[in-house]
Amino acid sequence: MDKITIDRLKIFCNHGVYEEEKKNGQNFYVTAVLYLDTYPAGVSDDLTKSVNYAELCQNITGFMQENRYNLIEAAAENLAAYILTENSAIHALELTVHKPEAPIGLPFENVSVTIFREWQKAYIALGSNMGDCRALLDSAIEKISANPAVRLLKKSSYIVTKPYGGVVQDDFLNGCIEIETCLSPQHLLEFLHTVENEAGRTREVHWGPRTLDLDIILYGNKIINSEFLTVPHCDMQNRMFVLEPLCEIAPYAYNPVFAKTALTLKKELEQCIK
Ligand code: ATP
Ligand code: MG
Ligand code: MG
Repeated sequence: MDKITIDRLKIFCNHGVYEEEKKNGQNFYVTAVLYLDTYPAGVSDDLTKSVNYAELCQNITGFMQENRYNLIEAAAENLAAYILTENSAIHALELTVHKPEAPIGLPFENVSVTIFREWQKAYIALGSNMGDCRALLDSAIEKISANPAVRLLKKSSYIVTKPYGGVVQDDFLNGCIEIETCLSPQHLLEFLHTVENEAGRTREVHWGPRTLDLDIILYGNKIINSEFLTVPHCDMQNRMFVLEPLCEIAPYAYNPVFAKTALTLKKELEQCIK
């Protein structure tokens, strides 16, 4: 991907753990490497087709001066989210916040934090079999879309499905959405848990009745196997209630573990069920 670099933008502001830093302020420098497609601006010579870096420098300065953080990690994290959510042309961002006047009490040249954040496409499976299932799924999608770090791209129809996993319970209503997000997979999961909790989700019986279940099915081409998160979802290939809505909106969504599209996984599952 092409990039535009803003190198060491000097900003006087008041981040720091110590009271003196908050009161007196000091010079910080921000370096931002913006990853985007510069081709449309390159062939048209039209500023509106690119990122206006003069405006962006003003906005970065404003953001750094209007907010106060103890840590440059927090300044970088929040600034990255601000830049990515306010500038739709920027796909990814490498951001460094330098603090060369940090009160370290020893001779040093600079201290800095560098982070990389990007928009990624992800698929979320939704399910509900308690209460007003349709309203619960609608409200979940509304809440997800209202997060500035998420863009809703596509939404499947809802389908009524039989319970999965052997627990005797009511039928489910299932659906799937395609989003773009600049939240990391872990932070996306945490956010989805808050949406589930707001819908009154409890966990009494494994695979039991629930007001709302939000599972990350795919996140870019990432493969994640951590204690709290498995992506692609480890059981998606066995679940028609996931594959059917997923194929409606994204038949060519790619599962990097099986190296197969959603459509292939669905056809294979149909063969198994026959
Ligand atoms: P299943 O994941 O088999 O559909 P479930 O959705 O009923 O089961 P939950 O109770 O919603 O399970 O989630 C249990 C835990 O699963 C979560 O706390 C979360 O840490 C973990 N988890 C692992 N991978 C994922 C994923 N891809 N999406 C959502 N949760 C996940
Ligand atoms: Mg689930
Ligand atoms: Mg779940």
